[in-house]
This record gives sequence, structure tokens and C-alpha cells, in this order.
Amino acid sequence: MNKPMFDRVAILGIGLIGSSIAHAVRRGHVAREIVGHAHRAETLKRARKLGFADRLTENAAAAVKGADLVILATPVGVFNALAKAIAPHLKPGAIVSDVGSVKGAVIADVSPHIPRGVHFVPAHPIAGTERSGPEAGFAELFDGRWCILTPQKGANKRAVRTVRMFWERLGSKVDVMDAKHHDLVLAVTSHVPHLIAYNIVGTADDLTAVTQGEVIKYSAGGFRDFTRIAASDPTMWRDVFLTNKDAVLEVLGRFSEDLSALQRQIRWGDGDALHKLFTRTRAIRRGIVDAGQDSAEVNFGRNVTAKKKKPRATRS
Ligand code: NAP
Repeated sequence: MNKPMFDRVAILGIGLIGSSIAHAVRRGHVAREIVGHAHRAETLKRARKLGFADRLTENAAAAVKGADLVILATPVGVFNALAKAIAPHLKPGAIVSDVGSVKGAVIADVSPHIPRGVHFVPAHPIAGTERSGPEAGFAELFDGRWCILTPQKGANKRAVRTVRMFWERLGSKVDVMDAKHHDLVLAVTSHVPHLIAYNIVGTADDLTAVTQGEVIKYSAGGFRDFTRIAASDPTMWRDVFLTNKDAVLEVLGRFSEDLSALQRQIRWGDGDALHKLFTRTRAIRRGIVDAGQDSAEVNFGRNVTAKKKKPRATRS
């Protein structure tokens, strides 16, 4: 059995990602004690029944007291207030990290509150499902998935190494990246695809008045897949778009241009151009499957104790 890396880990926000971290910390004996925090009593009650934390509290300041590692795992819009509230209670030498899907805005919101002697190492596990809440978590979520660290210039090297090792112990592969680059990459691979899903499902819903329910009844594979992505947590995704505005707008601009080109190809019957694009995109899908990054289902299948409905993978 591996030696624990920490005496106490505090996880602020115990939804899909926070509770999955708790399960994985337990599985890997990564910390002697796991403390969880959520702001609603109802969430804490549900989490208590699930038993993935040793201690649960609705007081964020109490949760971080004496913790060696503190992880912010609420929607990113809460990080600023949360960091401000916990700052005076952080143990000297502690590491603060997070799991936010956006990194530039998170660094701007959190780092001004980090006291001298405490180290902030931003992180983003590229793993998820469309489900949310404490029941959604499972220990295998991060197995074989990437986790991107975006430490600022001059960050404490030992703290960065520790956070890298933490995610490796949780089953992830770790990369280090500049925050701005991260936000652009994720705008392309996750944020804009989610926006497209929200948009197409909204458009189809508006059309149900015209098609009288046939959109649901005859929902084909493509639309069904979009509805799964568009079922992702509304608060989390609202915050992603509000905080990664620049990168999302840049990618959307390119997307709109490419869509206009497709529109012209269809209008002018340019089948060769359409075929060329669809062939290129098919190869991209093959590459993702070959790299083993296509679904979290495989991970979930390894969780022999879980009796939950199988989740499907999303990236954020
Ligand atoms: P989630 O399942 O909705 O869980 C959010 C948690 O945050 C809940 O425990 C919620 O508690 C708590 N919370 C909300 N507002 C709070 C507040 N003001 N104070 C304290 N706790 C609060 O969300 P999630 O999917 O785990 O996402 C959490 C973070 O992970 C986000 O920053 C997201 O960007 C990032 N992320 C998500 C994914 C994904 O696919 N879902 C992947 C990678 C990273 P209550 O229930 O009591 O409100």
C-alpha cells in the first residue's frame, strides 16, 4: 500500500469532480483524512450517506483548517469569494489548487487572496460526465485522463511537483501549460462544442412547435448525443462562458466562418469539398479512439462496487 502524501485534504465543492477526487484519494490512500465542504445542508446530508469524506462541513473556513492540500471544486464563479473566505484560515506551507475548467480568470480571481507562505497551483482534470452532484462521483473518473497544471511564473517548484504527484496518484497523466494557452485549447475542444450542443438542442426545442414532438420521437444518433452534452450542469457552464469569454469568442469567430463555407458548399453542390472535410474529421475521431480518450465508460466499468447508471464521458 502506498504511503499517504498528506495528513489532510480539504475539498471545497463535493459534486461530480469533488466527490470523485474524494473517492480516488481514498482508493489510492493519498491522504489520512478527507474533509468536504458544500454550502447547502441538503448536499451535505446526501454526501454523509455516501461516506466518501471523513468529515463534512458547511463552513469553508473550518474545512481548510490544518489542511495540507485545499482543492476548490465549486463552479468557477464562486472561487473569488471562496478564496477570500478561506485565506486567513490556511495553514502555512499549505497548497491551494482547483479543478476549474477555465484557468486565466481563476488565477486572476484566486491568486490575490493567497497568503505569503501558501502555494497556489491551478489544475484542470480533463475528465467528466454530464452528471452532477455528490452521487455522480466515482473513483475511476480520472484514470488515464489528462490533468493540466497551469502554474504561474515563479510558482514554488516543490508545490507544483506535489500537485503533479497527487494527480498521478489519482490515476491521471499530467501536463503543464500556460493558462492562456489552456483556455484557447479548451475553448476549441470543450467550451465551443458545449455551446454548439446547447444551441442545437435549443433550436430543435423551438422547432417542436412546428414539428409537433417529432424532434424527441425520432431523435437520431446525432441529436441524441447533443442532448447528452446539453444536459451538463447549467451553473458550471454559465460560469465557463462568462470567464473564458475571449478565447470562446475567438474560436466562435473561426467556427462561424467555417460554417458559412459549408453553407456555400451545400448551396453550390460542392460534394468534393464536403467529402474532403468529412474524411479529415473521421481521421480525427480515429486518433482520439486510438489514444484511449474517447469515453469514461471504460473507467466506470472498472468500478466493481458502483451500482449506478453508467455515465457517458464529456470533456470540460
Ligand atoms: P457539480 O457536480 O455541480 O458540483 C458543484 C459543487 O459545488 C456542489 O457540491 C455544490 O454544493 C458546490 N457549490 C456550489 N456553489 C457553492 C458555494 N457558493 N459555496 C460552496 N460550495 C458551492 O459541479 P462539477 O461538475 O463537480 O464541477 C465543479 C468544478 O469542476 C467546476 O469548476 C468545473 O469547471 C470543474 N470541472 C468540471 C468538469 C465536468 O465535466 N463536470 C470537468 C472538469 C472540471 P451545493 O450542491 O450545496 O450547491
